[in-house]
Amino acid sequence: MAGIVVVFDFDKTIIELDSDNWVVDELGFTELFNQLLPSMPWNSLMDKMMGEIHAHGKTIEDIEEVLKRAPIHPRIVPAIKSAHALGCDLRIVSDANVFFIETILNHLGIRECFSEINTNPGYVDDNGRLRILPYHDFHTSSHGCHRCPPNMCKGLIIERIQASLAKEGKKKIIYLGDGVGDFCPSLKLKEEDHMMPRKNFPVWDLICENRVLLKAEIHEWIDGEDLELILLQLINSIIIAEEKIFNPTAQLLASDCKFQTIPISVHESLHPLPVPH
Ligand SMILES: [Mg+2]
Ligand SMILES: [Zn+2]
Repeated sequence: MAGIVVVFDFDKTIIELDSDNWVVDELGFTELFNQLLPSMPWNSLMDKMMGEIHAHGKTIEDIEEVLKRAPIHPRIVPAIKSAHALGCDLRIVSDANVFFIETILNHLGIRECFSEINTNPGYVDDNGRLRILPYHDFHTSSHGCHRCPPNMCKGLIIERIQASLAKEGKKKIIYLGDGVGDFCPSLKLKEEDHMMPRKNFPVWDLICENRVLLKAEIHEWIDGEDLELILLQLINSIIIAEEKIFNPTAQLLASDCKFQTIPISVHESLHPLPVPH
């Protein structure tokens, strides 16, 4: 294991657009969505929209079909697979919902690359209607962060991940995101961590305006191709730096191997291979 935790936002970071908007728009409910948005929190509205969509005879299969054709840059899946193959622990922190995210990740064949999906719960009820619940139950108590929507503070999730890092023997976090909600977690990152904001997206604007508030190293990216290149370079440079720290041990092991090869070469010289004439 590389000792690196890579945290991905989902909408507009892994897929090209916002999965909530994509489902609402593709099923023809944009107008109703825009009409209701000023009156309730986004997460509560998505649950209501799923009720409307169900009442109009749209099935779970209709929603799945829309999700499976959500646009994604062709280099994102290879980037995720490579980061996983390099031994990184990949996690998702998203304000979408578990039903949308798992449907898309399973369809792309990369669900198993992620050890954790932190998002709003979602399930299909007995009537075949998708229910979407808040990650943080704001009806009982507030999460206390003024920067974030009532249903989720991504900063608190990062703090929980950070608290478990030492126990799991991991050292660094690389965070990738695009939205306003990715700013709070970027403030929680430490000097040894890396923030990858999507250039010209809201989190990038916020970081540019508040650069002094961030301790982590910042690496901007534009699209999936850029994300793949920068993320894999970063992971490789961290792995190489880690190997240098452990270099004395590596040299010791190498000298051990030399001792072991001596009897083998003696053995070979006693029984030389037949030389063809
Ligand atoms: Mg996003
Ligand atoms: Zn927050």
